[in-house]
Amino acid sequence: MNLKNILSTLNNLGAEYISLREVRSRTINLSVRNEVFEGLSSTEDHGIMVEVMMNGQFAHGATNSFDPAEIVRVAEEAKKQAIEASRFSLSKFSIEERPATVGEYKSPGEKGIDHFHPAEPTKLLMALSNEMKVHDHIISRTASLYLTEMDTHFVATNGADVKQNIIRTAVGISATAQSDKGTQRRSFGDDQSSQYGLERFDTAKLLVEAKRVASEAMELLEAEECPTETMDLILAPDQLYLQIHESIGHPLELDRILGDERNYAGWSFVKPADFGSLQYGSKLMNVTFDPTMVGQNASYFSDDIGNLATKEFLIKDGLLLRGLGGLESQKRLNLPGVASQRATSWNRAPIDRMANVNLEPGSSTLADMIKSVKRGIFMQSNRSWSIDDYRNKFQFGCEFARLIEDGKLTKVVKNPNYRGITAPFWNQLKMVGDKSTFEVGGLSNCGKGEPNQVIFVGHASPVCLFSNIEVFGGGK
Ligand SMILES: [Zn+2]
Repeated sequence: MNLKNILSTLNNLGAEYISLREVRSRTINLSVRNEVFEGLSSTEDHGIMVEVMMNGQFAHGATNSFDPAEIVRVAEEAKKQAIEASRFSLSKFSIEERPATVGEYKSPGEKGIDHFHPAEPTKLLMALSNEMKVHDHIISRTASLYLTEMDTHFVATNGADVKQNIIRTAVGISATAQSDKGTQRRSFGDDQSSQYGLERFDTAKLLVEAKRVASEAMELLEAEECPTETMDLILAPDQLYLQIHESIGHPLELDRILGDERNYAGWSFVKPADFGSLQYGSKLMNVTFDPTMVGQNASYFSDDIGNLATKEFLIKDGLLLRGLGGLESQKRLNLPGVASQRATSWNRAPIDRMANVNLEPGSSTLADMIKSVKRGIFMQSNRSWSIDDYRNKFQFGCEFARLIEDGKLTKVVKNPNYRGITAPFWNQLKMVGDKSTFEVGGLSNCGKGEPNQVIFVGHASPVCLFSNIEVFGGGK
C-alpha cells in the first residue's frame, strides 16, 4: 500500500494538516515453568491512524481497513470532529507543532519475527528452568521470552515521511524458594528488554544467571530480616531503573503537570515554575532523555508526530531543566520538552511519554562506594513499589540485599525495603557509579492515558549511593 498516494487523495478535504500513521506490530511470547512448556502466543495488529487539524484543533480517526475509500471516510469523520471540538479548544495549535521530518530508523536487532522458530528458544528456556533446579526447596522455576517487531510509516501533508522498524526482545527468569522459614523469589531479566533480536541471547551467560538466582533464593530463605534503621543505601541498576521511572520519569511528564492525567495516572508534585529553578537532586545527578542510545529499548528517530528525537538533559548537576512532553504540551506550558509524543499503536493518539530516561554515569567505582560506608545496605532487583499520585512519597522493596559494615559487604538480609520523598531522596545522592557499574535496561509495560496505552521505555543507570535513608524489613 502506498501511503503517500492515499495522502494525496485527502488533499481535497481542505484540512489545515493531515497525517497518516500506519503501524504493524507482531509479538511472540513463550514460557516454561518447572521444565514444562506452558505455551506460545502470537499476536499481530495492523492499522492506520488519521490525524486532521482544523481551526487549530487536532482530531483523530483510525481503521484497520486498507481500502482507500474507508481511509477517506475516517479522515472526513476526523475533520468533522476537529471542527466541532475547535469550538471548545483549550489551546490552538498550528503547523509549528508538526515538523516536516524525513528519515528512516532501523533498530540494531537482526533476527526478528520472520526468523522465529520455536525449537531453539524453547530449548533455551527449558535449559534455564532446569539450571534453577538446585534444591527441592526451589518450588517454582520460570523462564519466558518475548520477541516483538513494530513497523511504522508516518506521512503528512507538510512533507513529513518517517519509516521505523524496531525489533525488541527479552528473556526473564525467576526462582521461588519455599520452606518452613518462608518464601523468597529471585529473578533476572525483567528490566532487560532491548532493541536486539533473537541473535542477542548468550546462552552461557543466561545459564550462569539462572544458577545464581536459584542459589540466591535459597540463601534468602536462611537470611535474617532486613534491619529497620536509617542508614546509607547503595542501589543496583536493576532497582534504580524503577526508581528513575517512578520518581523522575512520571513526575516530569508535561501532560501530568498540566493535569490531563489527573483522573487516571495521577498528577505531579512538579510545578511549571520549577523548571530552571528546582534543585531536584544533588550536584551529582545528571538525567538525560536519550533516544540515541544504540540498542536501548526506546530509541527511535522521531516520535509519532514526526518530531526529530535528540538527546537532552532533563536534569543537569541536580537542577531541573526540561520536561518529558511533546510539542503540544511545550506550547501549552511555554516550557522546553523533548520528542516524546508517542502512541502505543495505530488506534491511539500520541501522548507525552518517557522514552529512554537515563541517569548518566559518574566517577566512583562500586568498591569506592562500599568502602565509604560505615553502616549501610546494598539492595538489588526490584520486588515491589508504591508511590503516591503526585509521584512524591514512595517506598520500594527489593529481592536481595547485603549489609555494609565498616566499609565491607557482610551478611545477606531478606525482605529489604526503603522509603523516601522524591526531591529530598535525590538530594541525598552521594556517589554515582562510573561506566563499569552502568547497565542499560528497558521495560515494556508503562501504562497511562485514557483509553489506556501500554508502551515500552528504557532506563539506564550506574550503581548509586544515597546517604541516610529510612530502611526497613517486613513482608514475606
Ligand atoms: Zn510508567
